Amino acid sequence: MSEKETPFKIETKIVHEGRWSESHFGAVNTPVYHASTILFPNVGRMLEIFSKHYDNIFYGRYGTPTTRSFEQALCALEGGYRTVSFPSGMAAIAAIFSIFLSRGDHLLVSDSAYDPSRRFALNHLKRFGIETTFYDPQIGDGIRALMQPNTKLVLCESPGSHTFEIQDIPAIVKAAHEVGALVAMDNTWATPLLFAPLAFGVDLSMMSCTKYIVGHADAMMGSVTVATEELYQKLRLGAASYGYAVGSDESYLATRGLRTLAVRLAQHEKNALELAHWLQSRSDVVAVHHPALPSHPGHALFKRDFKGSSGLFGVEFKKVPRKAAFALMDGLKLFKIGYSWGGFESLIVPTFMGLERSAYEWKPKGTPFRLSIGLENPADLIADLDQGLKLMYEVAATCGPDEPMA
Ligand SMILES: *Cc1c(COP(=O)(O)O)cnc(C)c1O
Repeated sequence: MSEKETPFKIETKIVHEGRWSESHFGAVNTPVYHASTILFPNVGRMLEIFSKHYDNIFYGRYGTPTTRSFEQALCALEGGYRTVSFPSGMAAIAAIFSIFLSRGDHLLVSDSAYDPSRRFALNHLKRFGIETTFYDPQIGDGIRALMQPNTKLVLCESPGSHTFEIQDIPAIVKAAHEVGALVAMDNTWATPLLFAPLAFGVDLSMMSCTKYIVGHADAMMGSVTVATEELYQKLRLGAASYGYAVGSDESYLATRGLRTLAVRLAQHEKNALELAHWLQSRSDVVAVHHPALPSHPGHALFKRDFKGSSGLFGVEFKKVPRKAAFALMDGLKLFKIGYSWGGFESLIVPTFMGLERSAYEWKPKGTPFRLSIGLENPADLIADLDQGLKLMYEVAATCGPDEPMA
């Protein structure tokens, strides 16, 4: 395991990090180690390994060579000290909260954070005497006013889930560090290829690897990467204490996905921009929530901090009845209806149902959807949306004035 900074560019690191072929009979990929028990040849070796058992291969729950391969490769991309993998993105968020907060602490969570993160704070942290304040994702430096003497952690997510606000991460990091609070960031949308949280001073860089890292909609994984030995010890010890163990099969799939991340993301970006521009040119589109578009309110921050965009964005069509909005979704042939995103296939979900915000009001002017643009030919995706929208307006035309709107 090399801990040295290599001179290679990130695309090269994606291909070469976390591989120890000489230890695996020359196999290019680290094989899937199905292992719980690890045997020690003698007591001396057992004691030696035990002395650093969070880093050694000691017992399945602390990691196998397969999980370590993934962690090392991802860590190199994040530019961190160590990465710890988790059985899902949500497990990683729950771990951050549970390991770095104690009774009586105060937590700040972006109002546009992934909904289950919000609910974890409300349903579980509250039971343990941890108080949460939700803040407007566009608060920037204004977050100072929300800091309390007991504020220990700030959770950021940029762009925001479903609503795609861009956060001023450097301003938030500065304000948090001034009062001794840690900053965690859900960086699932950008991955370290497009935004490197640790380089911006974020302490805990988190991802749902289920999305772009795995990339093929076939495994669940999460990750947290930290820049210091101190945070790493706390994180690894906490993860093992809570019993988080990542399957080697999942780690293998995530590592395999990771190897092609750069080319996939570039194509997701290109396809999504093509779709976003096409949507923007339509007269029935009220808004396109894509931070790479100059019309996006967070565009200046996006240009300052991000290296590019990925494939997930929002769109609002002029307001139609709910029945018509459902007809669009049911009528699409290539866009499938499904939560999650970041796989090779295009997906659509409605944004007009149950979006929770408490620190600011999100008021769509039209009927909003979220699109995850996959790796299909964008011309086919455009044609699919075009025919789906025709269906939507056909159904809308048959609706009476009492029909509930979407
Ligand atoms: C999906 C998602 C998560 C949760 O990840 P899982 O792997 O599904 O548990 C967290 N944050 C964001 C932004 C997500 O999209």
